[in-house]
Amino acid sequence: MTVSSLSEPGRARTIGATGPVLTVDGLHITVSGGRAEAVRDVSFTVYAGEAVGVVGESGSGKTLTCRSLLGVLPPGCEVSAGSAVLAGADSDGTSSASASAAGASSAGASGASASAAGKASLASASLGRASARKSSGGRSGGRSGGKSSGGTSSAGTDLTALDRRQWERLRGVELGAVFQDPASYLNPALTVGRQLAEPLRVRFGLKRARAHERAVELFASVGLRDPADVYHRYPHELSGGMLQRVLIAIAVACDPRLLVADEATTALDTVVQAEVLDLLAQLRDERGLALLLVTHDLAVVAEVTDRVLVFYAGEIVEDGPTQDVVHRPAHPYTAALLRVASLGDWNRRELAVIPGRPPEAGEAPVGCRFADRCAFAEDRCRTEPVPLTATADGRRVRCVRAAELALSPPPLQEVPA
Ligand code: SF4
Repeated sequence: MTVSSLSEPGRARTIGATGPVLTVDGLHITVSGGRAEAVRDVSFTVYAGEAVGVVGESGSGKTLTCRSLLGVLPPGCEVSAGSAVLAGADSDGTSSASASAAGASSAGASGASASAAGKASLASASLGRASARKSSGGRSGGRSGGKSSGGTSSAGTDLTALDRRQWERLRGVELGAVFQDPASYLNPALTVGRQLAEPLRVRFGLKRARAHERAVELFASVGLRDPADVYHRYPHELSGGMLQRVLIAIAVACDPRLLVADEATTALDTVVQAEVLDLLAQLRDERGLALLLVTHDLAVVAEVTDRVLVFYAGEIVEDGPTQDVVHRPAHPYTAALLRVASLGDWNRRELAVIPGRPPEAGEAPVGCRFADRCAFAEDRCRTEPVPLTATADGRRVRCVRAAELALSPPPLQEVPA
């Protein structure tokens, strides 16, 4: 059974749809109540059906960037500039592609119910525990020029301009998310089946029996064995791999346009990790889902994604087709990451392989932020900010010597089949 065959009537996305789903433009994120900048001038686009990997060391800004897209930045962090427009979505939780179908299948869904659907379908509203620091009232009017109330314009919805109520409507409906520790995003007092069936009832107006049936179908579609039995299980009765599949089923239940997977396979053993990655690729292929995969593991990126964004010290330093980047990195930091990955344990060996440390959020080197760790640094690297520059082979690279360096790392270890 395929995932797409399980979509509610009229709700299936147009497979093979093209065009940008998410456009991030000039995003800046401050921490420590605005005293330091942790993400600087980040811009990228994710297209329908595209899987984009986001990699970098801890503190590189990759997770903050993706959490800002979900409205769940940690306390003390906020988007200080830029935008992140989700195309075709309104801040009432409907999209131009799905509005008519959603209306047909959930004619009675009120705004309040849509809100509940948004909460419940993103793993029982667990993201709501992390307060959404960004609010429309917190933005300067200058940056939101041209947008109507709630960040919605003809181009889509600016996710950086939503208030809590708008987030509750949109989250889980247009945006799905899966995280490293699925157990913490599920309610331990409810069966996993109920945690999936409830948002289906609210979002699509399904009767209780049909919601139950649909939940079992979704559990089957994500590869859970004996899904009818799983429906009645509590989170503590399931393994980590099963819980991650449950979370994925919940994340895609309302047919989101974009799925953000934040270290979603990090805690899984290698066999289960490979199975979950296959599942994410299947969802991407069958639903035309845009996938943003945040991970420290370049082997995972090489296995699943079409394109990769490499973050360093709050900036994108390289953006290009995954196979080009992993086989012919253009930025010295990417090459260093690949050398570490080829050793098999990126987390434990990174400090030994890449000498030095990245600048702290409050530090602001004049030139290249990687210069103190770069074996190729020259005086000109330190004199002025290094822009992210488009290259002839379709990448963007933040390095003044990119065109002259020949960087070739050892081959990556493969994710087990
Ligand atoms: S700009 Fe200079 S210091 Fe920075 S990565 Fe390129 S060569 Fe190294």
